[in-house]
Amino acid sequence: MTDNNNEKHKIVVVGGGAGGLELVTRLGRILGKKGLAEVTLIDASSTHIWKPLLHEVAAGTLDETEQVQYLAQAHRNHFRFRLGKMEGLSRAKKEVYVSPVYTESGEQLIPGRTFAYDTLVMAVGSVSNSFNIKGVAEHCLFLDSAAQAFKFQKRLVEAYIKSHVDQNKHSDKPLSIAIVGAGATGVELSAELHEVTHLLAVYGLDQGGAVKITIIEAAAQLLPALPLKLARATQQQLVKLGIDLKLDRRVTEVNRQGITTHTGEFIEAGLKVWAAGIKAPDWIRGLDGLETNRINQLVVDEYLKTTDDNIFAIGDCAACPWPGHEHTVPPRAQAAHQQATTVSKSIVNRLAGKGPVKYVYYDYGSLVSLGKYSTVGNLMGNLMGTVTIGGFIARVVYLSLYKMHQIAVHGYFRTAMLTLSNLFRRGAHAKIKMH
Ligand SMILES: Cc1cc2nc3c(=O)[nH]c(=O)nc-3n(C[C@H](O)[C@H](O)[C@H](O)COP(=O)(O)OP(=O)(O)OC[C@H]3O[C@@H](n4cnc5c(N)ncnc54)[C@H](O)[C@@H]3O)c2cc1C
Repeated sequence: MTDNNNEKHKIVVVGGGAGGLELVTRLGRILGKKGLAEVTLIDASSTHIWKPLLHEVAAGTLDETEQVQYLAQAHRNHFRFRLGKMEGLSRAKKEVYVSPVYTESGEQLIPGRTFAYDTLVMAVGSVSNSFNIKGVAEHCLFLDSAAQAFKFQKRLVEAYIKSHVDQNKHSDKPLSIAIVGAGATGVELSAELHEVTHLLAVYGLDQGGAVKITIIEAAAQLLPALPLKLARATQQQLVKLGIDLKLDRRVTEVNRQGITTHTGEFIEAGLKVWAAGIKAPDWIRGLDGLETNRINQLVVDEYLKTTDDNIFAIGDCAACPWPGHEHTVPPRAQAAHQQATTVSKSIVNRLAGKGPVKYVYYDYGSLVSLGKYSTVGNLMGNLMGTVTIGGFIARVVYLSLYKMHQIAVHGYFRTAMLTLSNLFRRGAHAKIKMH
């Protein structure tokens, strides 16, 4: 079944995440609204949650209003939304293939479809890299998508209730959670989970302090992207919260009961989360002859173009050169945000017969939120060099990254309304989700 049928320039964006959703929104407002192009977003899910918020989804602390419905967003911003998972590409025919969509009960909801494009943008993000370690895929939970984060949250509440009931039966089996990877995702999740255990105690599910959270990391330090001073300050904060840090330990195997490291140590854990590195999804590797790197990312030039002039790639699925650095642009929301802006300009230029815009990555630094306890990070600036920040200022800067995404997606007025309504909702509703 072919889905597009008119003669306008067809722009297809696959993946409506931190980068893709901002891109289609801009293109819809600039080109779609004036009828200058047909802009289509294809996404495997029908709603969007900004990925850096997934640790809050997992802990059950995120307000549901933070979700964006793609169909409503498309209607408001003059692009089309099509639900489905991209599974193939023909560069010769300039077609994208999307697999059928099924209901939860296995009934076919939407048949497989083909989308013709003139310009294609790949923005499908990344997934966790299990490095083929035995048992990871079977026994660990991941935070790659909202669906997985919701699954984790459900398992957490169930495990919590079960552990609470066991305690009442005088069993001494505490709830144990192990997080593999002490990057921003693992560290933020551990602090958020710690906060949740205290809230659950307030709601009556008291564990008597028995919940055990462990972080396992192969490197000798946590938060390798941050300066040592900040990593040490974060480490102290986590230790103060009672989070067990097992640094310098490579995971060799995971089973139902727990995790084994290269030192032979076995860490018992009822819930296991894998947050140790990313890769682009496996199906992208060598996609119809496009060049990819060892972690499946599409290799792009300084214009964010792949080896095909009609195909761009942005965000985590793109390996973008970073002049003066040994590695490519890091997989961050701020990079996806900047790349969406650059590619939107290049596509508008393309339709006007002009050349593409060069992409330069501006690293504004890294911030890590330890929930209500603290926020730490470093800010990069041309004038001041690298500045280390913490506390309230860091919290404000951390929140502003999400506000920038919201403004790109909703505009200033709607973002202000959403922020206000969220404040009121938070005051009136339970602070965590219990179902
Ligand atoms: C818990 C967590 C915390 C983070 N914190 C930070 C932070 O503080 N700061 C920071 O800068 N970065 C952070 N990151 C990284 C950041 O989230 C990513 O770098 C960013 O989301 C990448 O944007 P993207 O547009 O490339 O992909 P994503 O935002 O992941 O979006 C990809 C989209 O593609 C869709 N998709 C995937 N496969 C298909 C397919 N086959 N067909 C159709 N659609 C598909 C998905 O449904 C999704 O909507 C964090 C990540 C996680 C997991």
